[in-house]
Amino acid sequence: MIPVTEPFLPPKLELYALLDEVYDRNWLTNSGPLVNLLESEIPKFLNYNGHFSYVNNGTIALQIAIKALELQGEIITTPFSYVATTSSIAWQGCKAVFVDIEKESCNIDPKKIEAAITPQTSAILATHVYGNPCDVEAIAEIAKKHSLKVIYDAAHCFGTTYKGKSIFEYGDVSTTSFHATKLFHTVEGGALFTNNKDLAHKINYMRNFGHNGQEEFWGIGINGKNSEFHAAMGIANLKHISNILKKRKAQWLYYRDQLGSHLNVLELIDEAGFNFAYFPIFFATEEELLAKKKVLDENHIYCRRYFFPSLNTLNYAINTDLCEIAEQRAKTVLTLPLYDKLSSANQLLIVKNLLS
Ligand SMILES: *Cc1c(COP(=O)(O)O)cnc(C)c1O
Repeated sequence: MIPVTEPFLPPKLELYALLDEVYDRNWLTNSGPLVNLLESEIPKFLNYNGHFSYVNNGTIALQIAIKALELQGEIITTPFSYVATTSSIAWQGCKAVFVDIEKESCNIDPKKIEAAITPQTSAILATHVYGNPCDVEAIAEIAKKHSLKVIYDAAHCFGTTYKGKSIFEYGDVSTTSFHATKLFHTVEGGALFTNNKDLAHKINYMRNFGHNGQEEFWGIGINGKNSEFHAAMGIANLKHISNILKKRKAQWLYYRDQLGSHLNVLELIDEAGFNFAYFPIFFATEEELLAKKKVLDENHIYCRRYFFPSLNTLNYAINTDLCEIAEQRAKTVLTLPLYDKLSSANQLLIVKNLLS
């Protein structure tokens, strides 16, 4: 059986050493020493110079970002993402206005954003799909012209750089996920990145119920904290992440070498800065995809339709604007197995099955 992904687990003893410390201190959550250590180590590793807030998952990171920026009304967003991108907008009482994507990158098409702006628009929330950056310059220009905030759902982007800078530097806020299935994980977890000091301050209050000391409250908040156990997993994983990224690159390039001239594969925006997070392939039609997926499933090779369905088709989406490209991409994309323990023998088998 070849699953589409397998979480990386650090050597047990490395994790246990950190858990021993947690047992000795008996300090399990509420801004403990391991959470603080992780909060200083991750930005260092990423060469990120702004403010970084570790939270309990990538979805709460999105919700806190929307709340902290005080967004209301309409938020322009992409239909080609994980459901959390849209559900966070709806959950915060805003209306998701979908703008179609660029075919090649599967990222929101900046050329189509301005037509969707109305007096109610407060922000753009875009996803850097598969770890491949959006057209951040074009989006920044539109946002400036129309006084909109920009949030990037950068859940796929651990390690991605764009023009030599961490991708998390872009937008008013970037969010990410450290879920077990992501390239870097803390079992469950997520983070917010912002270069705005006041906003970071607000985010840090918001993720802790709004507490300002034990008996005083700064304002409304939620429980977005993460625990020492999760931070321990993150710290243990961080020691291996350089190797994980190197291996991922080799695996990704192998797929492209083998499949690139036969199948429709992802075009990279900035290959030097890519984190090689996912390897999607695109079929001409959904029928073709389903036929191939059936054969792969029968051979116990489990690929994932990621992302599917297009989010403008959700039953709670208010705005169901036609997003033809996103719908077409969602119906024809299959993401291949890619994870640290994937062996070259199994990769060869996957390639053989795809090309047969
Ligand atoms: C994984 C993911 C999320 C959600 O992150 P969680 O940590 O699972 O809450 C949001 N957006 C995208 C694009 C994702 O891939």
